[in-house]
Amino acid sequence: MSAGARPLLEVKDLKMHFPVHGGILFRRVATVFAVDGVSFDVMPGETVGLVGESGCGKSTLGKAILRLYDPTAGQVLFEGRDLAGVRGKELRSLRRDLGIIFQDPYESLNQTHPIGFILQEPFLIHGVGTPESRRAWARELLAKVGLPPSAFDRYPHEFSGGQRQRIGIARAIALKPKLVILDEPVSALDVSIQSQILNLLLDLQREMGLAYVFIAHDLAVVKHVSDRIAVMYLGKVVETAPADELHARPLHPYTQALMASIPEPDPSRRIEDKPVLEGDVPSPRNPPPGCRFHTRCPFAQARCREEEPILRPGPGAAAGHQVACHYAGELVPKEGR
Ligand code: SF4
Repeated sequence: MSAGARPLLEVKDLKMHFPVHGGILFRRVATVFAVDGVSFDVMPGETVGLVGESGCGKSTLGKAILRLYDPTAGQVLFEGRDLAGVRGKELRSLRRDLGIIFQDPYESLNQTHPIGFILQEPFLIHGVGTPESRRAWARELLAKVGLPPSAFDRYPHEFSGGQRQRIGIARAIALKPKLVILDEPVSALDVSIQSQILNLLLDLQREMGLAYVFIAHDLAVVKHVSDRIAVMYLGKVVETAPADELHARPLHPYTQALMASIPEPDPSRRIEDKPVLEGDVPSPRNPPPGCRFHTRCPFAQARCREEEPILRPGPGAAAGHQVACHYAGELVPKEGR
């Protein structure tokens, strides 16, 4: 990353709240605070990993970045342009620079069309090329993602999960986007296939200069592909750092617990040294006051239940390492323990 370079994507204090309606009059009875004030940026060609358990808001955040949702508050700037102010033709043209890859491309692939047609669709939607050039580009895309030419005339149901993800990737990169949101792109695949898809994504990134926002619940996978990682819990980023730094020195108890869930290659490290994460993520309809993690944190103090910690540079941490914990670096056991 060159000093002074402008971020490709800037997410500023983004909030995505959903009203819950109920009762006879179908009035608003509650609010789901799915994303509640998240900020981060992505440089050209960089991969930023968003990691957290199911329900932490990471997928909603990905969709809000792509304007599949209109954010409740905050800003999403792409190359300095606020996406909230972009409409119609301008939004369509901007979408050429933004791609998305879903967890299960099967649901997003039109089952009634052959792959050759599916891969021509992005060009058709944006009015790019002639019928001949579109067919040629679709064939090139198949080769790029490691599928045989015969795939052109076959249908989605004829492919395995890994092959379907290759088709989803081919479609997402068809228009040579600058940024791709990957929403749990390998979590539905067998472990052996996962590494093939991750390597394909890394090869394409190198070749095309793509930037990725890589969303996943598995910190081991996110660490493998990311330059920087943001750990999310109940709609907020609780820790962010360069990937190696986060792995070497996680400061937030939640990150430490996620880290502990990664299989340990060092047999000398005893299992009882690992922090254990108990219970489920509380409902985003009613997030706990103070630190949202306090109901599950083994280090929680009285202050944690009242005062919300803000994201700030971690004590003694490397540049770019921020953590939202009152006691980061000096964690003490719960009262009475
Ligand atoms: Fe745990 Fe308190 Fe830190 Fe929250 S602020 S992570 S409850 S020690």
